[in-house]
Amino acid sequence: MIPFFAEELSNINVLRATIATESACDAAECLEIKDSVLVLKDQVVADLKSIDIAVSTQNLVVAQPNDPSSPQPDNDDALIPWEVKLSLLKPPASLRSQQNDVKEWWTSKLLLQQSLEKQMRCQHCAQGLLDSAIKYKIKDLPSEHWYELVECWICHETKPEEHQARMKPILARPHVLLVGTTYFLIHPENIVKGSLQVDPVVSKRANWDRGTLTKWIAVNCSKCENAVGEGQYCMEDGEMQLLAVKLFKYCIDLAPNPSEQPVFTDFLVSDLVNTAKIHATHRFLIQGRQSQRIYALIWLFNWDTHIVHNDGYREKSDHTLVRERVMKVIYLDCTVTDAHVEKYVALWSNDKSTDHLIYPDTYCQQLVDTLNLSTLVLPPFMRKINHPAMVFTKNFSIGFIRRSG
Ligand SMILES: [Zn+2]
Repeated sequence: MIPFFAEELSNINVLRATIATESACDAAECLEIKDSVLVLKDQVVADLKSIDIAVSTQNLVVAQPNDPSSPQPDNDDALIPWEVKLSLLKPPASLRSQQNDVKEWWTSKLLLQQSLEKQMRCQHCAQGLLDSAIKYKIKDLPSEHWYELVECWICHETKPEEHQARMKPILARPHVLLVGTTYFLIHPENIVKGSLQVDPVVSKRANWDRGTLTKWIAVNCSKCENAVGEGQYCMEDGEMQLLAVKLFKYCIDLAPNPSEQPVFTDFLVSDLVNTAKIHATHRFLIQGRQSQRIYALIWLFNWDTHIVHNDGYREKSDHTLVRERVMKVIYLDCTVTDAHVEKYVALWSNDKSTDHLIYPDTYCQQLVDTLNLSTLVLPPFMRKINHPAMVFTKNFSIGFIRRSG
């Protein structure tokens, strides 16, 4: 097996690949293309035909990377990297038209196709959260950002009565399932009694003397204490009153099982793309809701591209050649704090064009693990950004978030 990684550069119809060989092998001499199969001295490097990619036998460029900043191999039997430029014979499926389309998961349309019984369960312990005896009306919320604007406008309301009156019809209504991009908005009356509890850590931090009259506070499954969503609370006579509940789609299971089974990163992709479009930002701080820790800094580099690889730099892999639709990001893992991490967290936090995305801590950690793993498909010399001109991302890693749909 020869490690192979490539990225499709659809704008110039090029597949930019890297392979790694033993130091005795001169890939510039020996690498050939036969019917879209890359062959090195009779050994198949990558059968691109098998993943429906056709490359030209012309214009093959093979060279050693001459990036002075790339680290030198630290042991003698280290593999030598080669950069290979291949011309694509047919342009990849138009990406530009897809860019603005982020797949929506578990829409009202999908729910309406399901059988009448609706059940939402905690993903961890399967405790039922939604009263399934009710026949619900199912409606889509217009958009995450419409909602954001409405909330913002309500926050500036001076008369609480007006505020309440306007809040209620917009927010949760009994027997109506409001479907947002990443959550369901539900009236507390339709939540199974005792199935949710407010997160003690987040709740303790809420300062009722300041800010808005109502607050969104993390809520957990009462049985297993894992995060499931947020509750909107107001304070009445010193008691917290629940006004509405958001159940995060990535924290729950639906019954009956829908045909789609999205995972957390699918919703993260929606959040990244939608926020990037509305706020025109490419920089994100990923923050844990309970701990308020910053888990990662993410720079959205290319939100829709394809990579081809055989996971050849990792031993624990079956090394099948795959083509994946991904989001390419430049990120900094902040879970291990050192002076470098502290410096960049401070730099990004103070930058107004950086957006905070807040998720339950478990999912933030999961995301960091996924990113770190994705970096390993790259040859070692391509894993880190170290360009002097990129001051905001010095020593950051390159990673990929898989896009489905
Ligand atoms: Zn649970």
